[in-house]
Amino acid sequence: MAKKIPMRQCVGCGEMKSKKELIRVLKTTEGEIIIDFTGRQNGRGAYICNDKNCFLKARKNKGLERSLKQQIPEEVYDRLQKEFD
Ligand SMILES: [Zn+2]
Repeated sequence: MAKKIPMRQCVGCGEMKSKKELIRVLKTTEGEIIIDFTGRQNGRGAYICNDKNCFLKARKNKGLERSLKQQIPEEVYDRLQKEFD
């Protein structure tokens, strides 16, 4: 029997993808917004395709803020955006 691949929804384009195709944006327990490259840190996570266009969509449509349940300052978006460049 094939192992079921866990799927997550990109907050930019809304497509379901496997976790390894997505970048995990994490709100840490300290309330900091970071990119979780390990995928294992504690906190509330949101997923975005490894694609700058999806990041820009998530920024524009506030999908990331909805998913993390908090407002994200412009400078945090700018910092995250650099990781997608
Ligand atoms: Zn996407």
